[in-house]
Amino acid sequence: MKPAFALMALLLCLQRAVAWDYELHRLIHELALASLPTHFPAFTTTHNSRERIAFLSGEPDRWRNTGDVPLRHANGPEHYFDVDDLEHLGIAPEKISPFREQFILQVHAGRAAHPDRFPPIDPKKDPDHVKWFPGLLPWKIAEDYARLKSAFSYLQTFEKDGTPDEVANAQANVVHLMGIMGHYLADAAQPLHTTRHFNGWVGPNPKGYTTNKTFHAWIDGNFLKRVGFDRPALLKRVRPAELAWKGDPKKLRDHIFPVALDYVRHQFELVEPLYQLEKEGKLSADSESAAEGREFLLRQLLVAGQQLGDFWYSAWQQAGPDTFLQVYLARRKLEESKRERANP
Ligand SMILES: [Zn+2]
Repeated sequence: MKPAFALMALLLCLQRAVAWDYELHRLIHELALASLPTHFPAFTTTHNSRERIAFLSGEPDRWRNTGDVPLRHANGPEHYFDVDDLEHLGIAPEKISPFREQFILQVHAGRAAHPDRFPPIDPKKDPDHVKWFPGLLPWKIAEDYARLKSAFSYLQTFEKDGTPDEVANAQANVVHLMGIMGHYLADAAQPLHTTRHFNGWVGPNPKGYTTNKTFHAWIDGNFLKRVGFDRPALLKRVRPAELAWKGDPKKLRDHIFPVALDYVRHQFELVEPLYQLEKEGKLSADSESAAEGREFLLRQLLVAGQQLGDFWYSAWQQAGPDTFLQVYLARRKLEESKRERANP
């Protein structure tokens, strides 16, 4: 094998499994789109925008296919958050910093205080240097929410005082961000993205849960592919989008991080029930009780779609005008009219 191929093969087998497969990521975005009210900005729901949003649902996983370790280092941990690591790190959930860099320092401090709780990491099995870390999923969700809110804000302002090109660019950015941010909200609803037991149970296992290393991929899509499900019926179960967060957008320091963290922690509560379903045979495609496993996973797809719809809706509702941009555009207009007067 050529060295480059050998490296790729190594990286692929070391990488944490993706969450929902591309088909299910697309479906979650479709569920979210179905939840939006009819007065939601129409440019987001044209045929082209819907297809773009659905395509982008898979984009952050495509970034994981690269062999470039700096990107893998930055991107990989944004797809998961091992909630059970917090206890080992001695970090109380209410003490978690909403700021990602400060949380990284909290993890360093936790590992330094409890070295006995963390087995040494073999550098050969960790080429992208991510194994010391529980993940960054809630931070990524909160940051992307703010990015989308910002895009809706500057869109409003360009619609008032910008050029048609600026409005078109701002609209394209809204669509892009809707697609990208949805990936992470969707990942969180795959319970195996919230736990150190992400691909089979690890460590003490008194309840005898599966340790099978195909478990993650089975939940990501293989089980639903085997048992099938009624897609139109699932789309009909979507409720209209609601505000995910009722913070005061005028208060600069109010932010959505606690909502994102609660959402992820809530999915973590489903890790053991998921392993239990497997133990009871309800996630075997040929079992008579496979319907129970299917319903569990369909509910998770719905949870993801609704939460995503709620986040899109909230970002739009909570976006005020971009006041910095307003001043810039007002000045630009003034200078243009001065120039016109000077050179009629
Ligand atoms: Zn992912």
